Amino acid sequence: MKVDRDHSTMFRRFRWIQPLVLTLLAGSTELNAFQVETNFPGASIQVFGIDAKRQALTFSPTQHPGKGWACWWHFRLTGIQTNRPIALTLIRTSAFGRPTRAMFSHDGVNWHHTEPGVRIGANQIYRHQPTHDTIHFAWGPPFQLQQARALVQRVLDRDPSARASELCRSREGRPVPALRWEPANPAAAPRRGLWVEARQHAWESGSSWVCQGFLEWLISDAPEARKLKQHTRIVVVPIMDVDNVERGAGGKDQLPHDHNRDWSDRPHWPEVTAAQRGILEMSQAGEFDLFLDLHNPGPGDKTPFFYGSPETHLPPIRKAHQKRFHETTMKHLGAEPLGLSPIIRVSGPGYHPLWRHISKNWVAENTAERVVALTLETSWNTSNSTRQGYVSYGHALGRAVAEYLDHP
Ligand SMILES: [Zn+2]
Repeated sequence: MKVDRDHSTMFRRFRWIQPLVLTLLAGSTELNAFQVETNFPGASIQVFGIDAKRQALTFSPTQHPGKGWACWWHFRLTGIQTNRPIALTLIRTSAFGRPTRAMFSHDGVNWHHTEPGVRIGANQIYRHQPTHDTIHFAWGPPFQLQQARALVQRVLDRDPSARASELCRSREGRPVPALRWEPANPAAAPRRGLWVEARQHAWESGSSWVCQGFLEWLISDAPEARKLKQHTRIVVVPIMDVDNVERGAGGKDQLPHDHNRDWSDRPHWPEVTAAQRGILEMSQAGEFDLFLDLHNPGPGDKTPFFYGSPETHLPPIRKAHQKRFHETTMKHLGAEPLGLSPIIRVSGPGYHPLWRHISKNWVAENTAERVVALTLETSWNTSNSTRQGYVSYGHALGRAVAEYLDHP
């Protein structure tokens, strides 16, 4: 008992070096080996208490001032005794960082849901019966820069028509991986154009898994995928805000503003500058049709949905195309376990003061009238919001996009 008391006093005083202190101190006692590890990209946890005997941990996400909402958490527990349960108490965290079920993994690759946590006030207690002595726990299935790079490599290995294309360097100097398809341009037949991006908000890891699913489908043997790549210029960016993804910060509402409020004439973030340039180039060549920005929504949004532009940004041609695209996605995404809302929500003047600087609104304002520009919000707080569920959703998105772009 003394050990636990000493630990908690120590942690209150030296919160800033908690993970390190935890590791060092825990090794000095017999109750010891129950430790929190954070020595990997995207790790995020602030420890408020740890009780090795009870295998109990009280925590919140790490606060990164100026780097957006503290709603992403991911850590590894080691030295777990498998003969008793673990209790993880999440405190001081908004509903956006408080999933009904936490995610756990024994290898950092395959992720599963815990049983639903118990809500007590604003706290959420996840109890888990361990079968391994080392377990990762996270808000959702993590998708880091390393996964984006591996994904790019897998696509290149499989599809000779794909090109790796660094979107830009981030403000902190990280390369932002992207993939590109540039089919030959047969005379008198302008190509179609498609831009798909994920993670303008760093914590929304599910959107990168949807993006991965889309890419997997695109390099599959499906005849529709081959046909799409023959007539469409395609750019896919699995992670926009790589710096906050690697930091383990939320990103949403970061300073001076987040990526999805940055689509102005003078963007702050190099990823946005590069995306605008790529989109305008395709649009000016008359080869741009569809922009999809992938996100995860609020905790209460149990069915995925699209955000579209307000009427001011929907000339009749775009409106008709958007309707056809939505009907096509209803057929494919709507048949997935996650489903799809038949209502397109609008993010216009009433949604946010910087609404014109939301990516899809900027795209609508700066590209041809036929271009459809939408935000896809894939639900993260449901039993189907797993890596497998997201990837399958991405496959369905691929089928929908191909069917839509196969039409004049
Ligand atoms: Zn978002």
